[in-house]
Amino acid sequence: MNIEKEVMLTIKRYNLFRHKDKVVVALSGGKDSTSVLYILKKLEYNVEGLMIDLDLGQWSKIHREKMIAFCEELGVSLTIVDLKKEVGQGICFIKNVLKKQKNLTGCTVCGIIKRWILNKWAKKLGADRLVTGHNLDDEAQNVLMNFLKGNVLLGVNSSPATGGASVEGFAQRVKPLFFVPESEIRKYAKQKRFDILYDKCPCAFGTYRVETREWMDNISDKEKLKIVENFQKLVPGLREENLREMRKCKVCGEPSRGDVCNACKIFACL
Ligand code: AMP
Ligand code: ZN
Repeated sequence: MNIEKEVMLTIKRYNLFRHKDKVVVALSGGKDSTSVLYILKKLEYNVEGLMIDLDLGQWSKIHREKMIAFCEELGVSLTIVDLKKEVGQGICFIKNVLKKQKNLTGCTVCGIIKRWILNKWAKKLGADRLVTGHNLDDEAQNVLMNFLKGNVLLGVNSSPATGGASVEGFAQRVKPLFFVPESEIRKYAKQKRFDILYDKCPCAFGTYRVETREWMDNISDKEKLKIVENFQKLVPGLREENLREMRKCKVCGEPSRGDVCNACKIFACL
């Protein structure tokens, strides 16, 4: 697969952004977000990086240093947000508290907080679009997980462009790697010899996401595409139902489905 061409097609087909738009790429330091930043820069989009330092010891430190060097070499500016400074606690502490109090799994908590920070900072940076490195495998996993949880409505953002643009307070999130399998991105990043870490987050073990990822190892890329494409047919209906309920969190002012957003519910436990 020619990933660069696939990304170009997805941007055009789904009207993700234009060359004059300010595109902020959420960088975890992993192969997906690094590759998407590299490709968008190569395609001459107006890109910059935004990274949350999760404060996970050596792992975060290496990711941070490697992303600083990568962005410098690429000639792209990078904003690093320190999670501890932003919310007052490190992610490990937050996860432990939430596990005990609410029995929430680590990846759920981390995902909520990351989305909250990225949305806030993308707006602060004046982003027209916020790019994430979500790939075909992530999306197929989400479809299966939401179905097994009995809540397909959670898949409302499963699209190359989330519904954010039409809701006040949301930076429109877009996923140029939506149709690109993880195997292809891994190949691409290795071929380009990106100086990054290829291992998974050290906190993501024994979680539902990890289990789902393991089943997905037995499914071909073609099947993953079918799962995602077939689910796409349901998204417009789900979206209509979902957006009607959006309002502002009365604690932080960010968009929320309830009176208080999920991130503020987490912060209230700390
Ligand atoms: P994950 O939820 O770790 O699979 O990450 C999905 C996408 O979210 C990545 O491809 C990034 O675009 C973004 N992301 C994850 N972690 C971070 C982080 N620490 N800082 C900024 N963006 C992130
Ligand atoms: Zn809030």
